[in-house]
Amino acid sequence: MERDPLPVAGTILREAGFSDHLWVKPSSMTVSQWVRMKCMFGCPDYGKNASCPPHVPSVWECRELLSEYSSGVLIHLACNVPPDERDPWCRKNQELLVEAERQIFLAGYERAFLLSFDNCNICGECVSLPSDCRMPYKRRPTMEAFAIDVYSSVRRHGYSISVRKDRSENIDRFALMLVE
Ligand code: SF4
Repeated sequence: MERDPLPVAGTILREAGFSDHLWVKPSSMTVSQWVRMKCMFGCPDYGKNASCPPHVPSVWECRELLSEYSSGVLIHLACNVPPDERDPWCRKNQELLVEAERQIFLAGYERAFLLSFDNCNICGECVSLPSDCRMPYKRRPTMEAFAIDVYSSVRRHGYSISVRKDRSENIDRFALMLVE
């Protein structure tokens, strides 16, 4: 894709600290049923986070939504902090990305929508049900909650990513800002 097709959005992201990003066609993300299955079977938080499955559209609807956008920004976040500092790191970046989405929206891209890099933890402990969400205007699903196979998708765009075998290893996280 063109280097910076919507320069205003690129500038907002850079100023928010997300300079490691790449413009992509959202439909180039791989959306797979297996990703949803991993949420349903194996995730200890299944049903306990208001931004995650089962409180999200069907896999088919997720794929449809991506196809409605001609552009998006794949954002790489390198998490290099020790394991016991990861929750505040996630919260801080979650807040920054939600605010960046708001700024992009206000700049005239009314469809701006964030698929975040981590399940919403803005409140620390989630209430579980969307109807009880304390900050619904900040609640956003993750790429994984949208059934995006993050591993295959980011590798396709030149990023390297692998499964971490130890909690102490640094983590590569990715978010997708849909912009139009
Ligand atoms: S804002 Fe709070 S209650 Fe709402 S989804 Fe996020 S963590 Fe849960």
